[in-house]
Amino acid sequence: PCTDFDKAYFQSYSHVGIHEEMIKDRVRTETYKAAITQHQNSIAGKVVVDVGCGTGILSIFCAQVGAKRVYAVDASEIAIQASAVVKANNLSDTVIVLHGRVEDVEIDEGVDVIISEWMGYMLLYESMLESVITARDRWLKPGGLILPSSATLYMAPVTHTDRYRDSIDFWRNVYGIDMSAMLALAKQCAFEEPSVETISGENVLTWPHVVKQVDCYAVTIDELKSVATRYRFKSMMRAPLHGFAFWFDVEFNGPAIFPTSTDSPSLFIGSSSNNPVDGSQRKKRSNPNEALVLSTAPEDPPTHWQQTLIYLYEPVDLEQDQLIEGSVTLSQSKENPRFMNIRLEYAAGGRAFVKESVMR
Ligand code: SAH
Repeated sequence: PCTDFDKAYFQSYSHVGIHEEMIKDRVRTETYKAAITQHQNSIAGKVVVDVGCGTGILSIFCAQVGAKRVYAVDASEIAIQASAVVKANNLSDTVIVLHGRVEDVEIDEGVDVIISEWMGYMLLYESMLESVITARDRWLKPGGLILPSSATLYMAPVTHTDRYRDSIDFWRNVYGIDMSAMLALAKQCAFEEPSVETISGENVLTWPHVVKQVDCYAVTIDELKSVATRYRFKSMMRAPLHGFAFWFDVEFNGPAIFPTSTDSPSLFIGSSSNNPVDGSQRKKRSNPNEALVLSTAPEDPPTHWQQTLIYLYEPVDLEQDQLIEGSVTLSQSKENPRFMNIRLEYAAGGRAFVKESVMR
């Protein structure tokens, strides 16, 4: 059933700003476009469902590479604009906009391809992947294609002295006044909730840990209700540990090996040398058979997802090679299934801590 939580959620997608932000994120949109081009042979002449079509952009990309029919599904009022965009581009015969939830709308045929841009902050925030699974289990034909095909959530310890100085140490001396009495409140307000911000590779203290790997062909709704992992890091330098960063990537692989030689994706990707997505796709260009990757890692070009940081209230001074051990549990909030509870345990230098937060 469509809950009040869902209503509020879909309402948030009826504003132009959120679609503008996503579409202007060229790393995101151009990687999807490149993936659709790369999988053209699996899309041309086939039936596609776009789970959460928004303005219809991905549906139209699929129509442009020759999809026979595209069901563009969105429960938000943005579906009205999607319909108008499709019509204005003379694609009404190919792209059928269905205004409703993928859980509720009817499609009277099997589909060959599912495309969706479902990733939230920390990958799983918003819980939209469940709707992709529902679409897969309702309509995808055996051997069908899901784009993206897999996703990986990573975490790593970070140091971020500038950020700590700006929002916390700042209160120690304000125009010559000792405002340290503000520190507790400042820490609570700055660090209680996860923070979406862009950090750089230099903030990251060591190699990331894989929190969760998702195979979109096999993942179940059940296994997403709670994701738990134990980690063990060895700091590569001496630095204060300020918290942990989370980011993800998704891959655009087929269920089977996809086409080669004739329409190499390197032609598309390599066509303009000042293309801002060049950096993130450089690795892939050398081998056109490799899957495209949309990365939101700190060392890759920034996206609108940025990175998500969980800050510690008190930094921990780390020596080089010092171990940081603990666990993370990400679970759907009981209060609102679109929210995410994050339980972080960490131990370093003989001291152990727990931090719980909610991403709303
Ligand atoms: N595909 C578009 C929009 C992605 S944003 C693009 O790439 O630009 C995700 C969209 O999915 C939102 O418009 C949201 O309303 C829609 N959505 C999320 N869950 C859905 C569901 N269960 N049924 C239908 N639409 C859904």
